[in-house]
Amino acid sequence: MGYPQSLWAATRKSNNSRPVLNENIHTDVAIIGGGFTGLAAALFLSKAGKKVVVVEKERIGWGASGRNAGMLTTGYKKSIFDLEGKLGTEKAKELMDMSADCVKLVKGIVDEYQINCSLQTDGGIRVAYKPSHFEALKKEHEHLLEKFQYETELVDSQNIQAEIYSPIYQYGGLIDRKSFAFHPLNYVIGLAEIAEKEGASIYESTEVTSIIKKQNSVDRFILNTPNGEIKCTHIVIATNGYTSDITKRLKKSIMPIGSHIIATQPLPDQLANQIIPNKRVISDTKNFLYYFRLTPDQRLLFGGRVNFKTSATQSEYEQIYSALHDNMLSVFPDLKEMGIEYRWGGTTGFTFDFMPHIGETDDGMHFAIGYCGHGAAMSTLLGKILAYKITGEERTETVLESLPLRTIPLHGQRVKILNLLGYYYKIADKIS
Ligand SMILES: Cc1cc2nc3c(=O)[nH]c(=O)nc-3n(C[C@H](O)[C@H](O)[C@H](O)COP(=O)(O)OP(=O)(O)OC[C@H]3O[C@@H](n4cnc5c(N)ncnc54)[C@H](O)[C@@H]3O)c2cc1C
Repeated sequence: MGYPQSLWAATRKSNNSRPVLNENIHTDVAIIGGGFTGLAAALFLSKAGKKVVVVEKERIGWGASGRNAGMLTTGYKKSIFDLEGKLGTEKAKELMDMSADCVKLVKGIVDEYQINCSLQTDGGIRVAYKPSHFEALKKEHEHLLEKFQYETELVDSQNIQAEIYSPIYQYGGLIDRKSFAFHPLNYVIGLAEIAEKEGASIYESTEVTSIIKKQNSVDRFILNTPNGEIKCTHIVIATNGYTSDITKRLKKSIMPIGSHIIATQPLPDQLANQIIPNKRVISDTKNFLYYFRLTPDQRLLFGGRVNFKTSATQSEYEQIYSALHDNMLSVFPDLKEMGIEYRWGGTTGFTFDFMPHIGETDDGMHFAIGYCGHGAAMSTLLGKILAYKITGEERTETVLESLPLRTIPLHGQRVKILNLLGYYYKIADKIS
């Protein structure tokens, strides 16, 4: 299957495909999923001398990794206050440091291996949707500095137009200069190329259809694919929002949620400079949040959750993209003459506690999943940690590894739950 018709697919730096697996093979580590998580794990495992095979059912980056907005932001879906309340100050600090580290890690890999993925290092800003949301951002800014020595910059209502020119974001925002943007599919392609140079093998159009656990201590697992089997000692599950029945327990722990993006034609300089003068990546403070940025060729890329669906009929997609366009015009009315040239969507993976999870299943399969829409940078770090877990690298265990992954109650009823959740969030955004 090819890539979706995204801006990223249309501007990818290479279209080299990888072979389908057509034989029985043996490897140290088999990685299921060719996105950021799987390919980062492949890179670090190969560098450590392991024999690694990545199996992707479509193309590398076909999942969320090649479709996202390319916004590498710090923080988590949960607020720092929630994290601290649940885990205590020390662990919350470690989590904040991890979120800054993962952004640095991606930048370090891009710089070291000269991956051509259009880095834009102008920082990010979260803009307040309501006056009460600005008060919350202010508290967060002060708290981060006092308790965690973590620096952000507060922008008040007097100065917000220097960041964004929009009738609906008038109250202020919080800048984190560590955040940045890239071309996600070109980063995927770059990661795959360097992992291959280090010795990893990548198979595309190869779906793992089942996994068999053996008692043998070397060939502990057999992965079945339509035209060949893989015997291996370790497995990495890196399938996030696309996790299927081959790992039933993990599937029940992940809620797949759709997110959609539109991209305008390139904007004239004056218009681009007017709407987002400092070219930062932007998201807002709603539950049904909007996220947006300018691309290097000055298109506005605008995304959001219009609903939670992961698949839809053609007419439902038309409604989703038309609603997204309306949302974009409510933020930037001055773009009404600008055409929409790309529209696409993908699936994110949410967990019960809204946190990413890394660990091992009861039968010994390694996994990193559940980024809750914040995985563009964290997935590279968790891929690296998975590699270290497998090679036995001496290191201190991270807080994320200690969080238990719960199955989601009534997972089979997820369409109903998502509809209810969507309804609740829409009301909450109106009244909170
Ligand atoms: C529209 C959209 C916008 C987003 N924007 C942002 C953003 O701006 N910033 C941010 O931080 N995060 C964002 N995200 C989330 C981010 O993209 C993900 O968290 C991240 O890409 C997860 O990477 P991954 O490698 O774990 O999973 P994925 O990239 O989803 O890869 C999983 C892969 O597993 C493969 N697979 C599944 N089952 C099998 C099988 N049985 N056999 C073989 N292969 C299999 C799939 O085909 C898929 O390619 C966005 C997501 C979407 C959808």
